[in-house]
Amino acid sequence: MSQPSRIKQLDERTIGHIAAGEVVERPAQVVKELIENSIDADSSRITIEIERGGFDLIRITDDGSGIHEHDLSLSLDRHATSKLSSEEDLAAIGTLGFRGEALASIGMVSKLSISSRPLGTEGRKIVMDNGNKGKIEPAGVAEGTSIEVSHIFANQPARLAFQRRPATETSKIVDVVVSHAISHPEVGFRLVSDEKTILEVPAVDEMEDRLYDVLGRQAGKMIQISEPPGDSDAPGDENWSGWISTPDITRGKGDEIHILINGRPVAAQPFLQSIRRGYRTRLMQGRHPVAVLLLDLPHDEVDVNVHPTKREVRLRNSWRVLERLERSIAYTLESTPTEPESSGGITGITSLAPQAQERRVVEKPAWAQTAQISLTGDKPIDVKQKEKPRPISKSESSQTTITGTEAIAPALSIAERELHRHAGHDTEDIDNTEPLGPIINDLPAMEPLAQFADSYILVQAEEELLLIDQHALHERIRYERLRHDESLWQAQERITPVPLDLDARQVARLEARIDDLTNIGFVIEKKAAGFSITSAPALLCASELEPFMHDILLDMSEDGAPLETIEQRKDHLAFLNSCRGAVKANEKLNLSQMRRLLDDMRRIPNPWACVHGRPTAMRIPLNALDHHFGRHG
Ligand code: ADP
Ligand code: MG
Repeated sequence: MSQPSRIKQLDERTIGHIAAGEVVERPAQVVKELIENSIDADSSRITIEIERGGFDLIRITDDGSGIHEHDLSLSLDRHATSKLSSEEDLAAIGTLGFRGEALASIGMVSKLSISSRPLGTEGRKIVMDNGNKGKIEPAGVAEGTSIEVSHIFANQPARLAFQRRPATETSKIVDVVVSHAISHPEVGFRLVSDEKTILEVPAVDEMEDRLYDVLGRQAGKMIQISEPPGDSDAPGDENWSGWISTPDITRGKGDEIHILINGRPVAAQPFLQSIRRGYRTRLMQGRHPVAVLLLDLPHDEVDVNVHPTKREVRLRNSWRVLERLERSIAYTLESTPTEPESSGGITGITSLAPQAQERRVVEKPAWAQTAQISLTGDKPIDVKQKEKPRPISKSESSQTTITGTEAIAPALSIAERELHRHAGHDTEDIDNTEPLGPIINDLPAMEPLAQFADSYILVQAEEELLLIDQHALHERIRYERLRHDESLWQAQERITPVPLDLDARQVARLEARIDDLTNIGFVIEKKAAGFSITSAPALLCASELEPFMHDILLDMSEDGAPLETIEQRKDHLAFLNSCRGAVKANEKLNLSQMRRLLDDMRRIPNPWACVHGRPTAMRIPLNALDHHFGRHG
């Protein structure tokens, strides 16, 4: 055996180098630290200049409070900060910085020059060159602080060897500036790279204005999130606000998701899953939305002191916070794709979600091209309203179906396709379903005229002709029925237990959560032969049980993820089941079935979008037809 190596205390310089390795890994990180300092100093304008991706130069100039001349030297020492004075302060940090490490670390690995001039004083400057502090000298600078970093990593060949190309670093720096610009609309930002201004946003009062400045036109398509009614009474003081994109705007990576916790930009990764779940099946596999989401919560419920760069934080009630986010997104999407503007005689009849409008324009058959604008209803044509009521058509008692035409359906997302694959079960017997309750939307009484291509119902709705996608509508109706019919959710004993074929990880999840499953109506028994379901919600037929259980176990795969509240689980089950059993495209309907669907359509809260967020109907105002055929004088 060898002798034990003796322990000795490292010198300050070595300690500094070790710490610097964590805090300043790359130029973008230097930019981040310096911007944070400027924001903490209450600046209202911050200018960031970089050369060659920051490798040659980073200069950040602000008009903030400045550094007292007697503190200039101290600001370069490790663990010297003006933002924290005691251990207790750590529990409630309100500034972006607090560790007092950034300037010290940057000065270890570059030539760092700090010039500062607090209000009503003379400018002073100090330089630190690879760990060697210089003397304080007078400097002719404007009020505020200007910090220059050059020759970064020049003395760290190993670090330098691992750096990215300047262009890559520049784009990372843009990301950093954008995320801070989004979190601080009250500060104006200018980013200049190799003498070209690549981002300039003025200080504004409203977050919306900043989003327009930063995200461009795309900001106009973002929807503001709101929490479901009653959620404000749910336990917890956390609050989510912000904007999400409609499901048609997606990105391959989650890097256009900005999360701000109490105004601090943090890594979005831990939130991606909940955000996607909030979109339900509306997002294609591997796609992410664009989002700016602000979480506000008491300072003592978030620990920012877990990572040297503070990009990661820890939340005391992370699951509760994540579920709240998911609920808000789901609720927002559920309640938005409807009611854009209404242009016809029927209030509330506007058929198309914004994303669908675009799609329809592309897919419109040739005969509709000339009538494009009026048909989509997005630009109402200003035509005189007839005074006399127009005749209302009645359909013949024997139904006319125009057949022989191929139905055109928009492409399905992978998730939808998956659902439709499972949807081979018997179609619900439309005529014999329970009524849905009172009329709750603005739709008028409607009359089916005919079925087109066995897929679309032609409907007279006062002075509008509606083309209804029978599957989409039935799906939405089924969702509401399944969701609210309590009897469907009661546990029903199965005469023959349904065996479950599970792998080791699924077994572990199942065993950990068996009580939660019982709460939503599943009774699962473990026998020598394995697990089997002996009782399950009445809603589910035997052949559906195993795939369902697999879905649920997949949901529980996240470490420590609770099975969501029972309500959410029910939503999910209703959602999955609404497609199964819904009437398909290319399925003949008789008039009484069509009438029944139209009647139910008036009894659901959101008749204009199916559960996947696609439109259920297209409207053609009579006025638009008259206009198209030149019948207006
Ligand atoms: P921290 O931000 O964690 O306090 P830093 O090393 O980043 O640590 O900065 C050290 C100190 O220098 C800060 O606490 C602050 O007092 C001062 N400082 C740094 N940058 C600025 C600036 N742009 N304006 C005013 N003060 C600054
Ligand atoms: Mg700092």
